[in-house]
Amino acid sequence: MTFDEHEYRRLLCSMSLGYTAYHVWATQARRERRYNIARLLEASSSVKSVRAERAFRALGEVGKTGANIERALAGLEPETVATGPVTGTSALSRELMSRAARALAENRDLVAEELGDLYVCSTCGELMEGAPAVCATCGTVREGFLAFRAAESMGILGPNTLMRRLEQAPQTLHALVADLDDDLLVRRVGSSVSLKELVGHLTDMDVVFRERAWLILETDNPRLPSAHPPVLEKAAVYLDYPTADLLDSFQTSRQQTLGLLRGLTAAAWHRTGHHITFGTIPLTHQGNWVVEHERSHLIEMAQIRHDLLQAQTDQRPLLLNNNLVPELLEGE
Ligand SMILES: [Zn+2]
Repeated sequence: MTFDEHEYRRLLCSMSLGYTAYHVWATQARRERRYNIARLLEASSSVKSVRAERAFRALGEVGKTGANIERALAGLEPETVATGPVTGTSALSRELMSRAARALAENRDLVAEELGDLYVCSTCGELMEGAPAVCATCGTVREGFLAFRAAESMGILGPNTLMRRLEQAPQTLHALVADLDDDLLVRRVGSSVSLKELVGHLTDMDVVFRERAWLILETDNPRLPSAHPPVLEKAAVYLDYPTADLLDSFQTSRQQTLGLLRGLTAAAWHRTGHHITFGTIPLTHQGNWVVEHERSHLIEMAQIRHDLLQAQTDQRPLLLNNNLVPELLEGE
């Protein structure tokens, strides 16, 4: 093995492992509602994937697709070599991670002022905070940067998709709970919550979203209420409500929300508000937030429903593995 080849093999191993580590850590950070720290970890993972790809190509492992498929079938068996540390390997990376560590020591996410928009050069993998005109390392222009912006930290769905998701939710929710007995709807499994509480919680969140959307649309760059949105623990009050009323409340709230948003121009969707954690963000950011929050809960509800019905059929005690239910995107 030549010196170059050994170095590329080392890079491939190091970057692939670094990519995996950062990517999984980013997923975990999102589950813990540390969205800016998740953005930092996702950008860091992107640095590694760009560099792993470069090393893989440099090793001559990429040919025409026909040849690649043959290699895939034959079972690619790269030689692994010792890597040394695979994370925290640059001064900037360590500086950003140190900021995250300080915020976490105070039991909070990084706030907008503490972490700018991050960019990764798609050619060389250079990590940048703020976007210079060109990559200082390889000269790639800004258009070639992968962006990890605060404004997009909740997702990148556009107005049409957001509206479609918001419109679909009442129907999905109805299908998940309308045919179940009250006995099942109030049942809590393990440390989890009941379906009834979740229906009420989704209504709470829709109200918060609509209030914020109204502020963004009707006032200039408003400071969005920093009070925490209603968290799931507050939803216990809904256990005593008839399910039909809870579903009606959601439906009514959602209709009002849709009424506010229907027919908005692209410019209106890009009006901004100031959020303590995310900084100045467009209405689309909040739309992605509520849609993503809702999606996580609908998935959770489908799992709970499945387990409840299964237990009923089997007449077995209900055992739900909590690890199966993803922790959810509460708050913010
Ligand atoms: Zn570059």
